[in-house]
Amino acid sequence: MSKSIVEKKLVEVELPNKLFIDILYLNYLLRIKHASIIEETDDCIQTDYLCGGLWSKKKRLYGFTFYPNMEPDDFTWHFEITKNQIKQIANGKTDRIGLWKCKNTACNHYYAKEDDHCDFCNPKKV
Ligand SMILES: [Zn+2]
Repeated sequence: MSKSIVEKKLVEVELPNKLFIDILYLNYLLRIKHASIIEETDDCIQTDYLCGGLWSKKKRLYGFTFYPNMEPDDFTWHFEITKNQIKQIANGKTDRIGLWKCKNTACNHYYAKEDDHCDFCNPKKV
């Protein structure tokens, strides 16, 4: 099988306002120790733009999909964020997040990891 995976590069992305507001909401959930943010899950937290949850209690790592245009079929950001990062963003210490982006300039998706599969650039053969 030949490999034709589009390479990705790590980019620092400024958080769009709607994502920043959702991260403030996550910080609020953390402060009140809401069940949706302290139990391991992959979809317990849902807002208009975000879907995800606590992936690893041990690593305090959250995983989310961000839908900038509220359209699941539109471009998406897949990202991971730690409890600490949520606090730092909420406290105004940073407004950026590191994400992987395909080198294909037509692709507007972002990924948490370099080897995450991009359906846009590398559609699965059916
Ligand atoms: Zn892509």
